[in-house]
Amino acid sequence: MSKIYDIAVVGAGIAGVMVAWWADRFGKSVLVIDRASSPATGGSSAAGAFVSPKLGKANVLTNLTNDAFEFSSKFYSEFFGEEFEQSGMLRFAKDESDLANLEYYKEIIGCGEILDEESLREFGVVNETKALYFRDGGVCDAQSLCKKAIKDIEYLQLEVEKIEDANEYLIIEDRVKAKNIVFATGFEGFDGFEYMNIGGLWGSRGDYYCSDDIKSCMHKSVSVSSNIGGIIKLGATTTRAKNPCMVCDGEPLKVLEEDAIKIASLTDFKIKEIFCGYRANSKDYFPIVGKVIDAQYMLENYPQIKKGYKKAPLRYKKNCFVFNGLGARGFVFAPYLAKNLVEHIFDACEILDEVNSDRLFLRWARRLVIGG
Ligand SMILES: Cc1cc2nc3c(=O)[nH]c(=O)nc-3n(C[C@H](O)[C@H](O)[C@H](O)COP(=O)(O)OP(=O)(O)OC[C@H]3O[C@@H](n4cnc5c(N)ncnc54)[C@H](O)[C@@H]3O)c2cc1C
Repeated sequence: MSKIYDIAVVGAGIAGVMVAWWADRFGKSVLVIDRASSPATGGSSAAGAFVSPKLGKANVLTNLTNDAFEFSSKFYSEFFGEEFEQSGMLRFAKDESDLANLEYYKEIIGCGEILDEESLREFGVVNETKALYFRDGGVCDAQSLCKKAIKDIEYLQLEVEKIEDANEYLIIEDRVKAKNIVFATGFEGFDGFEYMNIGGLWGSRGDYYCSDDIKSCMHKSVSVSSNIGGIIKLGATTTRAKNPCMVCDGEPLKVLEEDAIKIASLTDFKIKEIFCGYRANSKDYFPIVGKVIDAQYMLENYPQIKKGYKKAPLRYKKNCFVFNGLGARGFVFAPYLAKNLVEHIFDACEILDEVNSDRLFLRWARRLVIGG
């Protein structure tokens, strides 16, 4: 273990591989570590990996998501052209009353075209009469993208539990030396991450054999991908329970199939494979990016934090960073926010305020008292 990496990334989902990709591009020595023998086995293995903007009222989360959409769709098309099918994304109004908002959504997103019924039929749309079309949108092949992102980067299969500080560097499991560690461990979080309150939602989606000519991805209550080599993707269900999706037997997908035929001209589609996974969320639904606070030290040395004291200088776990809570939009957020994190680590650039992991600590500490 003589080599000292500039950065070790724990977790080889889309979050981890994007951090590794940017760090490698910045000329840093990088090691990716995952308990699995290959990338994208966690939430990222289940993702439909649609790259789509967020329609809704202009607010901080909508703006952040759409900045990420703009960045990431260009990023994938430039660097992952084979793994990103940029067939466009059609977004329909939620219901009749939402139709009038499409112009407003277009304005706040800053891109997109309104399409009429005639144009929609050419894309393989049924029933809908109007949509907002984003040419830059599309869908990724999640697994091949994650693999390609780190194909020239060192990879180690290892379950990580123990990190030690050896002054000049950190030691992972007595085996790896690294100057910086990024934890991109998805819904499992990591020891010492309790204050981040990482939770989430299970979900399922399916790949289908299909002979229908669906030319664009589309989304209403379900996402339907364009037909890529005789396969379409339908996604995704959302289940608020601890463990259900791993034994879903395809049941939740019936809802997706019923919704899909209401928007897409699907006459011939048959299940090929079902995927189940967990979307890791923060309590406020913003991603979690930045330094890891030494919560134990803070509580021991500034117990008044629990009563709302906000002025204690934050102490961090040395050179430890987190990249998590990407929710249902990991493939939209990851390239954009991974760049921000890598620039923060190596160039002292600020983490975007709205995703900075610091925000979660004081709220959590207050709840310790409220919760008794
Ligand atoms: C059904 C479904 C559909 C989805 N559809 C979309 C979509 O269309 N578009 C979109 O953008 N997003 C979508 N998502 C969300 C997306 O999948 C997630 O946001 C994304 O995968 C999160 O990636 P991640 O890297 O943070 O976590 P993960 O992919 O879960 O990766 C975490 C990795 O960390 C490893 N790990 C954890 N702990 C340790 C440890 N102690 N030691 C070593 N390794 C460890 C795990 O093995 C895993 O590989 C969907 C999710 C689901 C479930």
